[in-house]
Amino acid sequence: MPTPADAARLAGAAAGPRALRPLLDTVLAALAEGAAARCGPLPAGGPDAVTRRLTELIGPTLPTHGTGPHDALRTLVTALAEGAADPADPHCAAHLHAPPLAVAVAADLAAAALNPSMDSWDQAPAASALEHRLARDLARLVHPRGPAPDALVTTGGTESNLIAALLARENLPPHLTLICGANAHHSVHRAAWLLGLPAPTVLPTPRGLLDPAAVHHALTTPRPPHRPHAPPALVVATAGTTDSGAIDPLRPIADIVAAHRAHRPTALHVDAAYGGPLLLSPTHRAKLTGLDRADTVTLDLHKLGWQPVAAGLLTTPDRAALTPLAQRADYLNAEDDTEAGLPDLLGRSLRTTRRPDILKIAATLRALGTSGLAALVDRTCRAAADLAGLVAAEPRLTLHAPPTISTVLFRPAGATDQHVAAVRRRLLTEGRAVLGRARAHGPDGRPALWLKATLLNPFAQPNDLAALVKLVLDQDPEHADDRPPHRRSPQDTRP
Ligand SMILES: *Cc1c(COP(=O)(O)O)cnc(C)c1O
Repeated sequence: MPTPADAARLAGAAAGPRALRPLLDTVLAALAEGAAARCGPLPAGGPDAVTRRLTELIGPTLPTHGTGPHDALRTLVTALAEGAADPADPHCAAHLHAPPLAVAVAADLAAAALNPSMDSWDQAPAASALEHRLARDLARLVHPRGPAPDALVTTGGTESNLIAALLARENLPPHLTLICGANAHHSVHRAAWLLGLPAPTVLPTPRGLLDPAAVHHALTTPRPPHRPHAPPALVVATAGTTDSGAIDPLRPIADIVAAHRAHRPTALHVDAAYGGPLLLSPTHRAKLTGLDRADTVTLDLHKLGWQPVAAGLLTTPDRAALTPLAQRADYLNAEDDTEAGLPDLLGRSLRTTRRPDILKIAATLRALGTSGLAALVDRTCRAAADLAGLVAAEPRLTLHAPPTISTVLFRPAGATDQHVAAVRRRLLTEGRAVLGRARAHGPDGRPALWLKATLLNPFAQPNDLAALVKLVLDQDPEHADDRPPHRRSPQDTRP
């Protein structure tokens, strides 16, 4: 009988794996059991039903007396798996929410067991050396002609965009303004707010893309009367927009930024959180032509890189651009320690304690090679093209546009926005499909609400996609929100 004291064994050192192995058996069994009980992309019934079921399964969350590690893991992991939106299910396709690769998850377990902290060399000797090497190799993929490519490992696009704006603020003269499209990610606005910059100048993107002529116009707009010079500008373009997966015309935008640099301090940031990994694929990389000319690039490997969260990068062609992040804290990087040759890690993040997210990325790349990862990118893009083909061939549905990456926008032909929203909520409440929503120009040219399938499962099969289309078609337009919710039992097979 396991006792609560068993819960206090450590995961590290030579004995750690012996303590871990039986617990992993329990965790893996619970993951399988929870997924089988759910039997679909997400739990049916909506938020109240999920909360009720969770409470029923786990009881008190802050018990005085423990029940031991096996019970704790079995109970909580089963409850979370049963109540999960599982991106490994091909009908879970709302967001840039990737099904992680098993090899990456296994590597992340090792990262947790070893627990290196990436804020000083004496807490992470090999992990920091690995990060140092791989970050530079990844940055060289993005900026092959850069003088000294380097990358910071971040928690994702939000942090990468924030650091990009911070570096522009520090590396350019005072009074930076951001210029972005209406298609830019909300984190660009938040970054400006957090850094005390004026709200970004937002250029309209009626067709979902930043217009280079509009960028040119914004950069030539007369300076404010009380300023002797035009304020420095950071132009933010997007490679893989959140709403439609569109890629801004990077090369023309890079040309315009380069042309304006002579009379106005200007930098270019490309938010390629979603689209960046297309670089790996010989089939798709031409879509990113011009990306290498950005001063900073955001790239998320927890999207088209199939890593468990978090696996963000911010790349730069020249590591000199990162010097504003330098920090001195005597207990972590004393000057004499640095002079004596101990690597200084503090300037590689805004965080202090930091997980070695580089390990799972390195393990994935070693297991698959860049060609193996590229094959997954290609498969995913092909699945999106297949889905778009099914939609285009179905007269009862309207396709927004052929996908650029792996996002497919579609809607029932002639439906109202209300119906589109109701279809999405109903599929969610019934636990049948997780589809997203996006506002984009409609069949009549006016903005309309679309269903959004963001495919990130490289193993989605044609019959999975056909079933997804059928689920949407089967929603009665008259009564999409009124029918009593149909609760599936585990014996039901999915339609
Ligand atoms: C996902 C995404 C972000 C935000 O990234 P997080 O990893 O969620 O912080 C920013 N920009 C774009 C284009 C994205 O796709």
